[in-house]
Amino acid sequence: MSIEVKICENCNHKNAITAVECEQCGYDLTFVFPQKIEDSDLESTKETGGWEMVSVTEEACRSCLDGEVTVGRDCELFQELFHSSNYTSRTHAKLRVVDDVVQVMDASTNGTFVNEKRIPKLEWVSVDKDSTIRFANVSFRIRRIQDAD
Ligand SMILES: [Zn+2]
Repeated sequence: MSIEVKICENCNHKNAITAVECEQCGYDLTFVFPQKIEDSDLESTKETGGWEMVSVTEEACRSCLDGEVTVGRDCELFQELFHSSNYTSRTHAKLRVVDDVVQVMDASTNGTFVNEKRIPKLEWVSVDKDSTIRFANVSFRIRRIQDAD
């Protein structure tokens, strides 16, 4: 099925044909002609599938990532994994998703490692799909939710 949209000349955002300005950047759409696109194209740009972090040792321990979360011995998320680790800090690290990119910030004593490389403390670091994040001795894989089998 195809639908008509107004594609913003400034940022390529797909707007409704009734839009007079781009809902993303405010660009004037008065002289932009509607174009027909496949419905599925719109879906694929809109739906990202989201991100999740999955424990490397306990597949059942997983959580969707959106917004900002804190992990560590004093945090609710993955308490069963962090609580039994003497190496993780009370507030070990933060994770967030910004513009569909997963980022991690270390705030610990024993370190946070992305693909076995220690990341600088108190700096947001972007994490690629299928990367491993290790909080001291507790490891997770970052993946797309739809990749789960
Ligand atoms: Zn725009």
